[in-house]
Amino acid sequence: MQDARRSRLEKQPTDPAATARKTCYFGDRTLAKIAMQNFEYATARSVDGAIQLSTSESRYLAGGIDLVGEMKEYITSPKRIIDVKLIPDLDRIDTSTGTWKLGANVTIAEIAKNEPILATLPGLAEAASEVGSPQIRNVATLGGNLAQHSRCWYYRHRDLRCLKRGGSTCYARDGENKYHSLFSGNPCISPLVSNLAVILAALDAKVGVRRGDKEVTLTIEELFSDAWNNPLAHNSLLPGDLIAHVEISTRKNRSVYLQVSEKGAFDWALVSCAAAGRNTQDHWADVSVFLGALAPIPFRVESPLLERGDLSREAIESIAESVASKATPMAHNAYKVPVAQALVRRALTRIVS
Ligand SMILES: Cc1cc2nc3c(=O)[nH]c(=O)nc-3n(C[C@H](O)[C@H](O)[C@H](O)COP(=O)(O)OP(=O)(O)OC[C@H]3O[C@@H](n4cnc5c(N)ncnc54)[C@H](O)[C@@H]3O)c2cc1C
Ligand code: SF4
Repeated sequence: MQDARRSRLEKQPTDPAATARKTCYFGDRTLAKIAMQNFEYATARSVDGAIQLSTSESRYLAGGIDLVGEMKEYITSPKRIIDVKLIPDLDRIDTSTGTWKLGANVTIAEIAKNEPILATLPGLAEAASEVGSPQIRNVATLGGNLAQHSRCWYYRHRDLRCLKRGGSTCYARDGENKYHSLFSGNPCISPLVSNLAVILAALDAKVGVRRGDKEVTLTIEELFSDAWNNPLAHNSLLPGDLIAHVEISTRKNRSVYLQVSEKGAFDWALVSCAAAGRNTQDHWADVSVFLGALAPIPFRVESPLLERGDLSREAIESIAESVASKATPMAHNAYKVPVAQALVRRALTRIVS
């Protein structure tokens, strides 16, 4: 893989601006100088305080798993870092009503082990437990997981400026696209990799976002819709938007999250699938199925059978088969089609069993 990637990278055009800005090891060939980027560090003690501290060139810092990685690779160089981890109440899970409220700073480890979540929203706990490693889950937060940026290896390479970084080329389209999308509404085929986004979409969760002095509520599909059309977007958040909490109705009493990865643990999903619905006396309602790592958004599996709540064995087979019809595989990712079909089949079979 390393060799394939290097030979691909060696064919990329040199970016003169990037070369002038910094020099660095490029593969094992070019030695260059890297200029340290200064930045301010501020700690917010309230949501209002975080909003007041934000500027068009600031970024919020939660667990830092994604942001610090991007900064170390010079993919982003914010002028101001605003630490939001000490904002009171954003680390709480409130299960006191039928709509549960999870603060943006709740860690992924807490979601994976929280007893009420395990009992009532098992799909959410499953999705959390599959994120990275125990060390990552202990630090990474719900808000950061939803707002994390693309993991496309071309995007993450500090010396490449692909479309998503304001350049003019998507290197993945004719390059190493094994992990990329089957569906996209724009030339960037970097897929959404947040496990939590996929299950929260299936659970019809709503995201409370502070935008200036207003609180706006977005569905998970709205939170990512801009990434469908716009190659520069990772999500629909505007600069300065702060995710405050996620609300999840417990009306859907069945949920499941499954993924297929190359390794058995500590690995990203090649494809993931979440299904959730409301079951009362063998009657199904509000069944939703979403796929992850296949599109820049949580990708909804649409079917009249799901709308009718028909989860018979034949219906499940037909829903799974339908996933392939709109896919547009690249040279190296066609394997994702049968994987997605198998996951849809397994996820629906699990929620009915
Ligand atoms: C080796 C490795 C494996 C991984 N595997 C998986 C995996 O299998 N599945 C998966 O889903 N993820 C995986 N991840 C990604 C990881 O889960 C995310 O990087 C992490 O959840 C980000 O959370 P954080 O709190 O560290 O966010 P940070 O790094 O602090 O922030 C991430 C982004 O979100 C923004 N942000 C943070 N909080 C807020 C907020 N409240 N409102 C608005 N914006 C905010 C930041 O400005 C930044 O842009 C992996 C990461 C690594 C390094
Ligand atoms: S898939 Fe997107 S992030 Fe990756 S190289 Fe193409 S434009 Fe860049």
